[in-house]
Amino acid sequence: MKYLSGVIAALAMIFLSACPSWAKLDVVASFSILGDMVEQVAGDKATVTTIVGPDADAHLYAPTTGDAVAVSEADLVIVNGLGFETWSAKLIDASGTDAAIAVATTGITPLLVEGEIDPHAWNALSNAIIYVDNIEAALSAASPEDAAIFKQNADAYRAQLDRLHRRALADIASLPADSRIVVTAHDAFGYLADAYGLTFLAPQGIDTEAEPSAKELAKLIGFLNETGAGALFVENIANSDLITQISRETGLQIGGRLYSDALSVRGSPATSYLAMFTHNLELIINTLAASK
Ligand SMILES: [Zn+2]
Repeated sequence: MKYLSGVIAALAMIFLSACPSWAKLDVVASFSILGDMVEQVAGDKATVTTIVGPDADAHLYAPTTGDAVAVSEADLVIVNGLGFETWSAKLIDASGTDAAIAVATTGITPLLVEGEIDPHAWNALSNAIIYVDNIEAALSAASPEDAAIFKQNADAYRAQLDRLHRRALADIASLPADSRIVVTAHDAFGYLADAYGLTFLAPQGIDTEAEPSAKELAKLIGFLNETGAGALFVENIANSDLITQISRETGLQIGGRLYSDALSVRGSPATSYLAMFTHNLELIINTLAASK
């Protein structure tokens, strides 16, 4: 009997310990692009729950009760930071979670747009590599016994990101300097423009909340009629009405759909961060090259 109660006590210890070695980490990522990056590094050592899913706008998101439950049960919560998830601090507070909180953009130098921090840092691959460094560190801190596996996964992923980064630099460098103007619905590609030498113009600012004034829109259309942009794109998360109007008033064709702040649903071209970046890069380059 004494022996049996000892066994039961030992079993109870195993079940009660926060994260026994055979259990997976529960990780919550704030939006789909980050969720994919976490999955790439975690492999099968974590269950990743994403709050703002594919084709959804994290700027305008309103968390649900289900999100609060997921955060409260998580071992680790990873957010983009830079003011992207305006709702996340309140959600984390309200959930009462004791999860570790990691910010994927730690160490990235933020771009400023008219004095405001641009949160879309993932749209440069050099930054994505810093996201992966931060994700690896956060996962390893949450589950030190799996650190070697996280490092192996992160190294392989960083190599893929670096390869695509070099390709983007070379492909964009091959475009004539005067055919690198791209118009999108909202200002989500500042880091891409900065890293690879493109100019992005957008009727909406760095979030999707504010509509441009008629005067601002007329100014952009006037500029495009004078100089001519090479490419006009709709986005998966933003309303396409403004782009349709610009197309009508400038005669510029819409080159297709870019994925800016979210991955796409299954069966579309942007179901992972690498696929999303490759799709955006190829679409931008092909459209700009054809515009000359
Ligand atoms: Zn955005």
